[in-house]
Amino acid sequence: MNSGTRIITVANQKGGVGKTTTAINLATALAAIGENVLVVDLDPQGNASTGLGIDRQQRLVSSYDVLTGNAGVMEAAMATAVPGLSIVASTLDLLGIEMEISSAPDRVLKLRNALNEDGIPYSYVLVDCPPSLNLLTLNAMAAADSILVPLQCEFFALEGLSQLLETVEQVRGSINPHLGIQGIVLTMFDRRNNLANQVVEDVRAHMGDTVYETIIPRNVRVSEAPSYGKPAILYDLKCSGSQAYLQLASEVIRRERRLRAA
Ligand code: ADP
Ligand code: MG
Repeated sequence: MNSGTRIITVANQKGGVGKTTTAINLATALAAIGENVLVVDLDPQGNASTGLGIDRQQRLVSSYDVLTGNAGVMEAAMATAVPGLSIVASTLDLLGIEMEISSAPDRVLKLRNALNEDGIPYSYVLVDCPPSLNLLTLNAMAAADSILVPLQCEFFALEGLSQLLETVEQVRGSINPHLGIQGIVLTMFDRRNNLANQVVEDVRAHMGDTVYETIIPRNVRVSEAPSYGKPAILYDLKCSGSQAYLQLASEVIRRERRLRAA
C-alpha cells in the first residue's frame, strides 16, 4: 500500500446516528478538495453504496469478495459520480461472512491485508461500519489509522460510547497499536431544541478536544440526497449540512496531519 494512504473507520454500534451519512459526505468533501478517496462499505445494508448511486445489480464485485480474498481492492473499487471518489460496495452476502471466516486465524485482519495491496492510489480510505461491534467492525478497526465516531445529538448520545472506546482500546492493545481516535462528530443537531444544546455541552464536557468544533445540523436536504443516489454535497452544495461536512473535512485533514506526525 502507498504509505501516504490514511484509513479512517467510521464506527458506532448504534444504528441511525449518522455513520453512513458522515462516511459518504466526508468522502465527497475530501474528494472535492482534491484528495483521491475510497469508501469501503462494510454494512450488509449497503446504504453507503446506494447513497453513492451504485445500484444492487451493479455490485458484481463487493466488499464480501475483498474480505474472502476472492478479489483485490482495486478490482472491487467502482467509480462514483463524484470525481476522485470510488467505492467498494457491499452486498447482503456480508451477512454470512462472520460464519465463513470465523475459524480463520487472520479473521480480524482480512480488510487490513486486502488494503495492503501494492499500488493503491488513494490518499484517504473511509470505512463505513454496520451498527454492531461485530467481526466486520473489528476488521475495520484493525485496518484503520484512526476512528471517527458520529454521535447523534439526543438524550442517550453518550450511552454506548464507553463500550465503543473500550473496543478501540482492545484493538490498540492487540492487533493495531497505532490506532488513534480521529474524533467525535455531533450529528443531526437542531438548535431550536434545548435538549440538543444540553447534549452538546455534556459531550464536550466528557470528551473535550476529541469532539470536533464542526457540528452537523439536522437538515432535510441531507436526508433527501440518498434517495437520488447522491451525497448531499452533490445534491445541494449550499445547504447547511453540506457546508458542515466541508468544514468537517478540513478539521479531519488537520487532525490527520497531527496523528501522522505522532
Ligand atoms: P447510520 O449509518 O449510523 O445508521 P445514517 O447515516 O444512515 O446512520 O443516518 C440515519 C438516518 O438519519 C438516515 O435516514 C439519514 O438520511 C438521516 N440523517 C443523517 N444525518 C442527517 C442530517 N444531518 N440531517 C437530516 N437527516 C440526517
Ligand atoms: Mg449506516
